[in-house]
Amino acid sequence: MAGLEDLYKEIILDHARSPRNKGELAPPATRTEGFNPLCGDEIVVYIDVDDEGIIADIKIGGQGCSISQSSASMMTAAVKGKSVAKAQEITGEFKAMMNIHGDSLDDESSESVASAELELGDLEALKGVVKFPVRIKCATLSWNTLAQAIEEATA
Ligand code: ZN
Repeated sequence: MAGLEDLYKEIILDHARSPRNKGELAPPATRTEGFNPLCGDEIVVYIDVDDEGIIADIKIGGQGCSISQSSASMMTAAVKGKSVAKAQEITGEFKAMMNIHGDSLDDESSESVASAELELGDLEALKGVVKFPVRIKCATLSWNTLAQAIEEATA
């Protein structure tokens, strides 16, 4: 499946080189910072949640390795314009994908997760990261920061 891996690498590099939704949002948008000390990745997530619980706008800042920046870019594209509930659902799916091979390869539950409708689009490109456990934190950093930002925005 070398072809698929090349495609995945292309998608990751494309997001890392030209991140979607890069920038800042002025207050009262929520600003939340995340840091991955293992790799030195920094992510700043700005979200604007409207009265109906929709993530009306999202921007990211920060710097780090291509996995962290690429995952952050894909994350913004996946959740922008979605409800908070949907964003949390996508976050759960993404984090489940990141754990499939890491923790529970021979576990029966991994099969049900893998066969579930993930609908992750470009995010599937990050699946290969699970082969490098030390990079999983790079890939999940922006998602954990988003979860925290949602908590702060809806508190
Ligand atoms: Zn990293």
